[in-house]
Amino acid sequence: MNFAGMINQSLLDYPGEIATVLFTRGCNFACPFCHNGHLLLKFNRAQREDIEMAEVIEFLQERKSFLDAVVISGGEPTLHHDLPEAIRIFKNMGLLVKLDTNGTNVDMLSRLLDEKLLDYTAMDIKAPLDFKKYQQACGRLTNAEFFNVRAAINLLQQAEIKVEFRTTVVPELHTFGDIEVIARYIEGAEVYSLQQFNPSSTLDSAYQSCLPYSKEEMQELSLRCAPYVKEVRVVNI
Ligand code: SF4
Repeated sequence: MNFAGMINQSLLDYPGEIATVLFTRGCNFACPFCHNGHLLLKFNRAQREDIEMAEVIEFLQERKSFLDAVVISGGEPTLHHDLPEAIRIFKNMGLLVKLDTNGTNVDMLSRLLDEKLLDYTAMDIKAPLDFKKYQQACGRLTNAEFFNVRAAINLLQQAEIKVEFRTTVVPELHTFGDIEVIARYIEGAEVYSLQQFNPSSTLDSAYQSCLPYSKEEMQELSLRCAPYVKEVRVVNI
């Protein structure tokens, strides 16, 4: 498995742990607010700058005495059929593994959980679980993907690992009521992160002129979600 990019060391991506972040190439969604557009090329179209697995292993082995974890992000990592094999290598090195996912490949997610390959999963919930709203927020969506997103939420709500649900909050896509509907849908969840939309670089250039909610509005949103979940985080991305 190759990776499209890497952050050598992060204190933010796996809360409480020092992590290397690996980015996979390709995504089945095209969220207009996505700031990882450079990673969205078809996942089987390798680029010259891609990092080979052997190079990642060498890097991790050299640093494993002061690294706790690997975060696998994207793009959408679960599109890669060899993801379980890659994670097994990281686990065998004694590292914790966090997966960032859009939840559309529930079979892969289920397999990773069954094989106890994940310690932490952060799943995006793009919009309230209404097909049209979801499709607008993720750019493209099939019925099967929509079904899988709901199945992945159910699966993760019962999983015995750390789970975080998160939404990038975009005023053009989400009213305060929409965010509250999502929080109610995941009632009882350990963590719901509200990610502040960053218009500086977006897949759909029209979103670069959209203003994010203010800090005060994000705090108000956080208070509206608080009755439904155990912890609400407001995060800048
Ligand atoms: S924000 Fe959307 S398009 Fe971008 S990587 Fe995540 S799921 Fe894919």
